[in-house]
Amino acid sequence: MNQTKPAHQKSLQYIGPETPPDEALHSFLNLREEAPLSTFLVVPTSRLARSLRNQLLRQGLAIPEPCITTLPELAEFLIHQYDSNIRILRKQETALLIRKILQEQKDKTLLFQSKSAWGRQSTELQKLFSIFSYRQVQFPEGLGNNRSEKAEDLGLIWKRYSQVLSELGCFDRAGMLLQAASILQKKSDLLKGVVIYGLFEPSSAEQDFIQAIVTQSSHCIVYHPFIQKNSGNGDDGTWLNLPPEPVLEKIKNSQIRENHITVIQHSDTTTEMQAIATACKNLIKSGTNPEQIAVSFPDLSAGMPLLEEVFQDIGVLYSSSTGRPATSSPVVVATLQICSLVSGSYTPEDVHAVLTSPYLNNSFRIGQIDAGTVDRLAHEAGVIQGGNQWKKGLNHFIESQEKQNAPSAAIRRIEQTLSYFEHLHEITRPLETKTPPAEYVRKFREVLEKLGFFDLPPAPDTSIAEQEQEGLDTLLLVLADLARPAPFGDKYTVGPSDFKSLLLQSLAGRKLPVGKHSHGVEILGIRELQGLSFEHLFLGRITEDLIPKRSSPLPWLNDRETAELGTLQKSDLVREERFYFQRACHSAKNITLSYANSDGKGTLIPSVLIAEALSCGASETEPPEIIDSKKEESMAAGRALAAGEIPTGLYNPHSVARRIFIEAEARTGPCTSVFDGTISEESETLPDLKERTGYNHVYSPTALEIYAVCPLRYFFRYLLRLKQPETEDPLGSPARRGEQIHEILFRYLSDIRQNGMVIKKENHMDNLTGLIATAHACAEDVIIDDPVVNVWFEHFTTGKNGTPGILEQFLFSEEEREDDSFIPTLFEYSFGHTQRSGRCDPRSDENPLSLQSPEGHTILLSGSIDRVDCTPEGKAVVLDYKTGSFAKLSDIKKGTALQLPLYMAALRERTGLLPICGAYYAISEKECGPKAILFAPEERDNIRGYHPSGKIEPGEFEMLITSALKHADEMIGKAQEGLFPLSSDLSHCPSYCEFSTICRKDPLRLLESEQFNMIPKAEEKK
Ligand code: SF4
Repeated sequence: MNQTKPAHQKSLQYIGPETPPDEALHSFLNLREEAPLSTFLVVPTSRLARSLRNQLLRQGLAIPEPCITTLPELAEFLIHQYDSNIRILRKQETALLIRKILQEQKDKTLLFQSKSAWGRQSTELQKLFSIFSYRQVQFPEGLGNNRSEKAEDLGLIWKRYSQVLSELGCFDRAGMLLQAASILQKKSDLLKGVVIYGLFEPSSAEQDFIQAIVTQSSHCIVYHPFIQKNSGNGDDGTWLNLPPEPVLEKIKNSQIRENHITVIQHSDTTTEMQAIATACKNLIKSGTNPEQIAVSFPDLSAGMPLLEEVFQDIGVLYSSSTGRPATSSPVVVATLQICSLVSGSYTPEDVHAVLTSPYLNNSFRIGQIDAGTVDRLAHEAGVIQGGNQWKKGLNHFIESQEKQNAPSAAIRRIEQTLSYFEHLHEITRPLETKTPPAEYVRKFREVLEKLGFFDLPPAPDTSIAEQEQEGLDTLLLVLADLARPAPFGDKYTVGPSDFKSLLLQSLAGRKLPVGKHSHGVEILGIRELQGLSFEHLFLGRITEDLIPKRSSPLPWLNDRETAELGTLQKSDLVREERFYFQRACHSAKNITLSYANSDGKGTLIPSVLIAEALSCGASETEPPEIIDSKKEESMAAGRALAAGEIPTGLYNPHSVARRIFIEAEARTGPCTSVFDGTISEESETLPDLKERTGYNHVYSPTALEIYAVCPLRYFFRYLLRLKQPETEDPLGSPARRGEQIHEILFRYLSDIRQNGMVIKKENHMDNLTGLIATAHACAEDVIIDDPVVNVWFEHFTTGKNGTPGILEQFLFSEEEREDDSFIPTLFEYSFGHTQRSGRCDPRSDENPLSLQSPEGHTILLSGSIDRVDCTPEGKAVVLDYKTGSFAKLSDIKKGTALQLPLYMAALRERTGLLPICGAYYAISEKECGPKAILFAPEERDNIRGYHPSGKIEPGEFEMLITSALKHADEMIGKAQEGLFPLSSDLSHCPSYCEFSTICRKDPLRLLESEQFNMIPKAEEKK
């Protein structure tokens, strides 16, 4: 350490990436002798500030936290010293403000009209505006006269954002620096001595603040990082107006050197992580202090989970500057579920999720009702969503059960369910009303408290208890943050959806600590390595896609616009990243750089920085031999099983034997075991099954169709009520997309019908605008933040590459029949479902429909017909919208497609209309229009507009409707006997079957079946 005092009271010292903070620390200690509480050391990261404070503490010197700090923390400290009422907006407040501005300005812009995109847009605008503020960009003026409409829209929102901040007297993070600078101009005695170390190429707002510090402090030394640009100089700090020390020779030629660097190539990222973990473990075994080992990645949040898994696996203790996302904590997930419950309007799925939450207070639970029963009863009562619908639906269900003389225990269960729901609803109802955010948080906390969320249930061990507590503490911190009186007063209010999105946004940046072993290996990001020093550093995942990053620095703006604005360009980013990389390569004596050739999904290319390191003297070496891990043990167990031996170690031989028996015996040959859905007469579950099937039960045609194709799937879905696994498709499940289309068409067609209008070519544009507006209104119910979803939605509404969107194709199809005598008349006509207020045809009937089968059984049916087109004389066409594939006439004949015939039977029975045709209405990008499948042959000419196909003989039409009832009757009988065998022909399984991994169709089992013929042919299953 250089012990000489600096020559100037105010000076500029050039440093390179390799310069440690020792000299800066020494200068700080010298300066603080005169004024300990008003002398500050400003460093680039909080991690370095903490490390330096700890270093001094170990030497017996306690330094107050604000005295060794970062630039933003110093600005905040000075502002609060000067005026504690000045408000600095938190991240989530900025996001909320931008969102409110989008709402306020939406009609003046083209870019920001769709509410469904505001979540994503506000996050991107927050980033963009932060750069505008830090770089003090004049926008859109900085783009000159040749400005796009997009730039004008962005400019409008940016100007309004700046205006609102100024009206409210608030500051964002960049504004905070400028405000601190202006405070220093007014009050010159706040700073005595300041040492600034290692701030690389500060932005203009940061420069303004640093200049104010330099001007207003009595003593100031700036240790300024300086690397040359490829052409010309980098930031040489002349803007500081300080007398510089001569540029050191070693800085001019700053390169990776003076320490031992090795480079290792791996086949894939898993092996890379195992090698890093093994090397750490070996070092610790050979006596290296774990605190002297660091692991770092260019993208810490992506590398951390991979490494964490391996560290835990082979037993390396570690601590990390990052952590798991707060949204992964079970208590946080359960809390968000409460938001979903209210914003999603109490769907049975959400009620079920809340009820199964382990955080619910026991005293809140009532009776002996379990979540599965509530869920099942809600579905049987036709409850879809809505607080009031539960009351109405379940009351109605009680009445119908009483009429059918159902056992009193069954009726009591429904009553208990209703009373449970009402209890829950009473507690959560206040959340349905919009209020200012702070008030909403108060109500939300009250709800959580009443539900018992603040008393965590006992955990199986202390580490889980600690994790639970950390999750809850983080949640409470976020809520406390949100409860701060909003700077924009009561002007803005939030409802359940807004609040959920606000809470999610606030939680997004929060991390739960992982690996809190203070004496463990340290895992941290590359930028955090600045100024730190270790014995060993492993810098992993040095690949082209991660470092140096070349993605566009500014969202919304292209490279030309970025260049015109004079903000950071890609070349600047690359220079910056190279500096941090070089800096990292000086933070340990022994450095291992590594990269993998594949991440399991695709090929990876080593970063150009690897080649640079090699050209500067780094040597290539072989990876260490991987230490055995639990994963290895599992694989060894698998190998032992395959060789017919019983594995030792991890596995319980009884459990292994049972699994082998299930796979080899119970799931081989004919489907006679319970594992294939055949419930024996002796089974204890059969009486319960009989209660839930049979002729007292109400069936939907869809459920019967599922039984017809695969009884096992029916068993999983309707009796076991197994949930569909979460889809990874950002667009949600195909079923969810189908629901949205149904909703849009229902709303639009009901509206125009109510106004006595029909779709005609002459009104094409008006209708298209109306349909798109309805689609947007429907999307408002669901805040979709994913860009993929937004792109899909845009294609859906407005088409792509100049082709019409699905909605316009639908209009073309409707216009084809504008002269037909069939008029769209009923929409979502339902029977046997509790009326879904505003979501079904007002003529719907809540009572289940009873139809006599040819065998004389009464079959109870419920259902919802998407649409019925009628002539004035009462002839009707039944239409079923399909967004995917649909059945053929041959399926109706086989009895595996029941919807159209049963809907026609229901319509005739309930409305007196005369159904003459059943058609599927394809609604997809590929095709859009109706296809008549089942029709009275004598009406063929009259229904030409519905595109009839196939040949139906006279009399066959009626016969097929009757035989659908016969098929339904047979299936109900089989279900009552406990027969739920899997599909007799696996080639008929729907490609999207949600249970394919738990039945014999699991691809892994099919792999075996090719050798052992485990899947029986249909005729074997008798
Ligand atoms: S994959 Fe096929 S056999 Fe398995 S449950 Fe689904 S439909 Fe039935």
